[in-house]
Formats: sequence, structure tokens, C-alpha cells
Amino acid sequence: MSIKNLFDLTGRVVVITGASSGLGVQMAKAYAKHGANIAIMARRKEKLEAVAAEIRTLGVKCLPVTCDVTDTNAIIEAVEIIEKEYGKVDIVVNNAGTGYVGPAVEMKDEDWNWNVELDLNSVFKVSREFAKGMIKNNYGRIINISSMYGMVGNMALPSAGYHAAKGGVLNLTRALAAEWASHGITVNCICPGYFETELTGDTLNTDSFSTYMKATVPLGRYGNEGELDSTAVYLASDASAYVTGVIIPVDGGYTCV
Ligand code: NDP
Repeated sequence: MSIKNLFDLTGRVVVITGASSGLGVQMAKAYAKHGANIAIMARRKEKLEAVAAEIRTLGVKCLPVTCDVTDTNAIIEAVEIIEKEYGKVDIVVNNAGTGYVGPAVEMKDEDWNWNVELDLNSVFKVSREFAKGMIKNNYGRIINISSMYGMVGNMALPSAGYHAAKGGVLNLTRALAAEWASHGITVNCICPGYFETELTGDTLNTDSFSTYMKATVPLGRYGNEGELDSTAVYLASDASAYVTGVIIPVDGGYTCV
């Protein structure tokens, strides 16, 4: 098989959580452009339906599934719906997430718990439920979207809960990679740097944060739309068949200094 064909996802089914906005939508479109059928999960039904309609114009199927990924029963229901529609799931991208920003000493238990629930526990729960089918098929690719903040601390935006949860995703990735390797499942993790989305737009578009970014990101700019997609496609494709348990920063060099 030529290297070009290794990235072809025709016939594959990709599920992406948190694909009603931001990076999830970008990755969903990238997978669709590589020929995969798609299922997108998030809470906002109308947004999901609009994204699904756009993805279908790319010539593949796209199923919008309303689901709160912190709710185990909702996840189980979503897995049933998606497996019924497509007969299988090959690739899962755990992308849904958000973060509480505020000084640690002012952080309430519920803010901490919410962060860990959404940014770490949901990654485990979604992986667990889809892995059951992957184990039966002896094939799977799980891609966790952590953050460069999962690899290091930061001095601009106090967010201890987010750092802790995203850091947990790194070692969860390694643990599941080791546990499920014998079932033909790879588990890998991407740590994005600063990309402008609904989550980050208000923060990134300030003079003070741009100045901070220029001082801390070696490439001296924010990530552009589409710059996460190539890594996401690589980890979903046969090109990464011998790669598991790795953490890939896509951060303009933030974590190398
Ligand atoms: P957005 O806010 O644009 O997207 C977040 C997505 O997560 C939305 O689709 C939202 O959909 C979904 N989501 C949030 N809560 C839940 C929930 N309880 N159940 C299901 N879906 C949920 O953010 P980004 O695209 O920027 O972030 C995507 C991922 O990338 C996150 O994990 C984030 O931490 C990570 N990241 C982003 C960076 C950036 O600079 N943008 C940097 C590093 C990491 P809905 O509200 O419809 O449920």
C-alpha cells in the first residue's frame, strides 16, 4: 500500500465527542474528507444537526447524537444508537471538554469536580463503552484530546482543575493503550496548544494574552484552523498502526521550552 493510501479512511466509522463547535467540528470534517462515515456527539442538538448537514455535503454519512458525556446512561444510549446505525465503531475521538479558570484558593469543590468529571472522567467512560464493541471486532483507534496544559503548568490562566484533569488524560491514555493493545486497539493522545474557538476566543483576542503567547510559544502565533487535523487523521489511520500510548503536542513549541 502506498503511503498516500495509508491515510484513507473509507469504510471506517469515526465518533467525535464535542463536535458541535470548535476543534471537534474541524476534525470531523477532516475525517469526512478522508472518506470516513461520522457520528458527532454533544449537548446542543441544533448545532449538531447543522454540522451534520455540512458534513454530509462532503459525500459521507453523518449522524448527530445528542449526549452529555458526563452521563453514563446517555453514553450507553449513544453507543447503541451509533452501533445500530453503522454496525460498528472503528475510531473514537474524545474531544469534548472545557475548563474552569480562577485562582485555586477560590475554587469551589463543585468547580473542581465538574472539571474532572468533564475533562477526565468522561474520557474514561466514553472509551470504556465504545471499547466493548472494538474488542469484539479486534480493531479500534482511540484518540484523546488533552491539552498542552495537561503536560505543564502555566502562569497566565490559573486553572488547576483543568491541568489536573488534562494531565490525568495523559496517563489514562498510556494505561488503556497497554490494556487494550492485545485487542487490536491503539490509544493515543493529542495535546493542542492555543487554537481560537468558542472556548478560547475571548481570552486569545486580547493584547495582553497575545503578548504572553508571543513570549511563550516558539512559533510565535496561535494554531490555525486545520492545523490539528493532520495529527488527528494520522492517529486514526493505518499510517499509525504501530503507534500506541503516545502523547503528541501540537502547540507551536509551547512545551519544548
Ligand atoms: P469548544 O468550546 O469550541 O468545544 C467544546 C465542545 O465540547 C463543544 O462541542 C461542546 O458542545 C462539547 N461539550 C462540552 N461539554 C460537554 C458535555 N458535558 N457533553 C458533551 N459535549 C460537551 O472548545 P474547543 O474546540 O476549543 O475544545 C475542544 C477540546 O480541545 C477540549 O477538550 C479542550 O480542552 C481542548 N483544547 C482546546 C484548546 C484550544 O486552544 N482551543 C487548547 C487545548 C486543548 P455542547 O456545548 O453542544 O455540549
